[in-house]
Amino acid sequence: MHALGWSRADLVTRRDLDVPLEILEPLARRREAREPLQHLLGEVEWGELTLKVSPAALIPRPETEVLLELVLQCLRGVAAPRVLDVGTGTGVLALGVKAARPDAVVLATDVSEDALELARENAARLELDVEFVLGDLTANLAGPFNAVVSNPPYLPDADAARAQPEVRHDPSLALYGGPDGLALARRLVLEAERLTTRLALELDPRNVRVLASEMTGWTVTVHPDLTGRDRFLLASK
Ligand code: GLN
Repeated sequence: MHALGWSRADLVTRRDLDVPLEILEPLARRREAREPLQHLLGEVEWGELTLKVSPAALIPRPETEVLLELVLQCLRGVAAPRVLDVGTGTGVLALGVKAARPDAVVLATDVSEDALELARENAARLELDVEFVLGDLTANLAGPFNAVVSNPPYLPDADAARAQPEVRHDPSLALYGGPDGLALARRLVLEAERLTTRLALELDPRNVRVLASEMTGWTVTVHPDLTGRDRFLLASK
């Protein structure tokens, strides 16, 4: 479809299939070299959204759609909620919230200028109004927020040595969170204390219950991903 410039409907209805090999072959060679398909296509479909992707930010993963559902559940019944997405990357979670809840005031941070540029481009393409702020974690933003959501870098650093070739095309900054993977999530929990009474996180199944047990003063629930592994943490005060 990408090489032909066809839509899904074209694929079903058209019979004049004449694949342009001069376009397809270089793509096939890049894929053979284990470049992620999403980088070849330049975009990814994620929930209802089509997002531009690039090596500047993590390719949005399907499991993160569950995190969006969890944060939307937190916001049910709250009029004009104020929401913060920490480490927005492509902008996926912030844009997902704004698309589902047009009444929300959505802010999003990232420590990478290149990621924010991509996120801003995604917001413009989707015509969604999100405020993007450059900075570390919550970037000293002022609360209160009705919810803070984040899919922080959460893999243990040692995982880098056995990462699939495709994963090496994601920025390391987006993937790795220190020796046990929790360095950034721990700092975020501390910053969230003064900003919100609801925090929704995606974490590694190996460490989600570790962080949950450290979060004294919060009421914490753990939620599975689509494969049944502990992946999300919802905390409220
Ligand atoms: N929030 C973005 C996502 O969920 C980026 C996450 C990250 O880079 N760790 O895809």
